[in-house]
Amino acid sequence: MPVSSGSATDKGLRRSANEDNLLVRDDLGLFVVADGMGGHAAGEVASQVAVEGIGAFVEATVTMSPDQTWPVPFDIRESVNANRLRAAFCTANGRLAAQVASSRELRGMATTAVAMLVDEDAASLAHVGDSRAYLLRRGQLARLTRDHSWVEEQIQAGALSEAAARRHPWRNVVTRALSGAADLEVEIQELRPEPGDRVLLCTDGIFSVLTDDRIGGVLGRDAGLDDLCSILIEETNDGGGPDNATAVVIEFDAR
Ligand code: CA
Repeated sequence: MPVSSGSATDKGLRRSANEDNLLVRDDLGLFVVADGMGGHAAGEVASQVAVEGIGAFVEATVTMSPDQTWPVPFDIRESVNANRLRAAFCTANGRLAAQVASSRELRGMATTAVAMLVDEDAASLAHVGDSRAYLLRRGQLARLTRDHSWVEEQIQAGALSEAAARRHPWRNVVTRALSGAADLEVEIQELRPEPGDRVLLCTDGIFSVLTDDRIGGVLGRDAGLDDLCSILIEETNDGGGPDNATAVVIEFDAR
């Protein structure tokens, strides 16, 4: 399905580094957002290595078929693109491992990632950590991803409200990340997009400040997709957002 996209990123008011990275490849139908951790330069390196690694794998496997040799076992219950995304995350994770092994300063670095890969009639979504995907369909916003984070586990257990999670001192603790560790678990889902759907990929810098209602309100506006991303970041900064904020919006067009 043809798509158009927009994106924007911002350092945040009280940060000199930008630990977020994004990749927009309309030609491949690939969109990625990543949020690095590990302090100072390491977080920036981690998210950069991840988006580049994911992009390189997807680009190199445009004609990949199930009977070829995959870097991770091919799961026949899932589409080729879903398998490509999982393998792309694992390959990027391997690149992170190599970087961590080569440099003392990069030890402990890690990154979240959320990625969407679009083909003619479907879209595959992969995520690790607490960067999110949202879907706006006919004016209704739905969260597509469940954060791999400590606060999300507490919300699921009924021990914490969404509002309290937003202020909790452990709100940045993720329970999964690309860190170079061998046991990476990538969460995958398949979407059946409809014309007019808008998907937002974003880092926690945005939703730690803006409620889902606010995000849905912006996504539903009649504006260019780059403008929607800029508005999300402006509103995040107006709300006192101290963190990096990154947004990619993809709109599905009629054939
Ligand atoms: Ca962040």
